[in-house]
Amino acid sequence: MKNTGEKVPDNKGHFGQYGGRFVPETLMPALIELDKAYNKYKKDKNFLAELVLLQKDYIGRQTPLYLAKNLTELIGGAKIYLKREDLCHTGAHKINNAIAQSLLAKKMGKTRIIAETGAGQHGVATATGAALAGLQCEVYMGTDDMKRQSLNVFRMRLLGAKVTGVSIGSKTLKDAINEALRDWTANVHNTHYVLGTAFGPHPYPMMVRDFQSVIGKEARKQILKAEGRLPDCLIACVGGGSNSIGLFYAFLKDKIRMIGVEAGGHGIRSGKHAARFAGGSIGVFQGCKSYLLQDKDGNVLGTHSVSAGLDYASVGPEHCYLRELEKIEYTYATDKEALNAFELLSNTEGIIPALESAHAVAEAVKVASSMPKKSIIIVNLSGRGDKDVEQVAKIKGITL
Ligand SMILES: *Cc1c(COP(=O)(O)O)cnc(C)c1O
Repeated sequence: MKNTGEKVPDNKGHFGQYGGRFVPETLMPALIELDKAYNKYKKDKNFLAELVLLQKDYIGRQTPLYLAKNLTELIGGAKIYLKREDLCHTGAHKINNAIAQSLLAKKMGKTRIIAETGAGQHGVATATGAALAGLQCEVYMGTDDMKRQSLNVFRMRLLGAKVTGVSIGSKTLKDAINEALRDWTANVHNTHYVLGTAFGPHPYPMMVRDFQSVIGKEARKQILKAEGRLPDCLIACVGGGSNSIGLFYAFLKDKIRMIGVEAGGHGIRSGKHAARFAGGSIGVFQGCKSYLLQDKDGNVLGTHSVSAGLDYASVGPEHCYLRELEKIEYTYATDKEALNAFELLSNTEGIIPALESAHAVAEAVKVASSMPKKSIIIVNLSGRGDKDVEQVAKIKGITL
């Protein structure tokens, strides 16, 4: 790793040349208030004690680090460990961030939280956090996404949230984010915006990273206990980048190979993918400077992935920075590879992974086979696949 020695981000949210706060003037007071509050509460003993208790008794932490023996034997290379974020309450790592931000909102005296959601995963996590913290909740969701994910819409409503359809633009996630930002600008006196990944304007990339870093902190202790040494390789899928930075962060000072896996969709040449590093370039989008899928005039391109959670045109700024420092490598798995890994993990280990996580499993299978048997890989299993079973059946042409 090229060393920098500096602590990132700086106080304006820059990770090297990436990140920052590219927002309209009207949103600055909200971001500054949040930054101040976060910096205060992250050192507050009561806040941290409450958070640790909720992580334990509500989310179900710590999550196991499981040696996937059957998969390891089948591949015949490195030992493959799975960090079981799929066992978190509500089925994925997103709850780590949603619960922490809900608690923070309450401490800040807010009575209402809002969120954006694409497939509904982050909306459900935020609605859960709101129910727990006794806050009002409104979730913005593209109307096309609402049709595709009607079960999650119902789930959020059950949890007491108001789901507001966004019928402008692409009627999907990026328009939902714009609406949430608009709401926040108007209602910041009583409202906190729970952003769902390590992306957007400062302080979100830093704050979400910190809240997700519990994953790597646990995994580090667990692997030292199980193997008496650190792993050789860490692998995680990268949508906005929160589960991956959550795993990697505690290991950044160690000499460990780290691989982030983006959605290769139908392949880079097809243009139907969400591999921002393989197919994108530097740009500014939704509040920060990062890698972006855009055309030569800077128009944001459409994306595709079999997994909704990886299907986004940009990526968290810290990932761009760590890639530039050659600390983390980025690659991609195609839809087909992810679907194969989805089935493979299901029938070798009895664990149905989220399609997002299946991208990381696909890469682990490739990497493990060329590594010696004594080497160790940790794969972040960011979520469970119950939500994806119906879609996979459909892709396989099976009528349920
Ligand atoms: C949302 C989601 C992701 C992608 O988001 P990151 O912020 O990159 O972690 C990955 N896995 C699962 C299960 C998800 O729900």
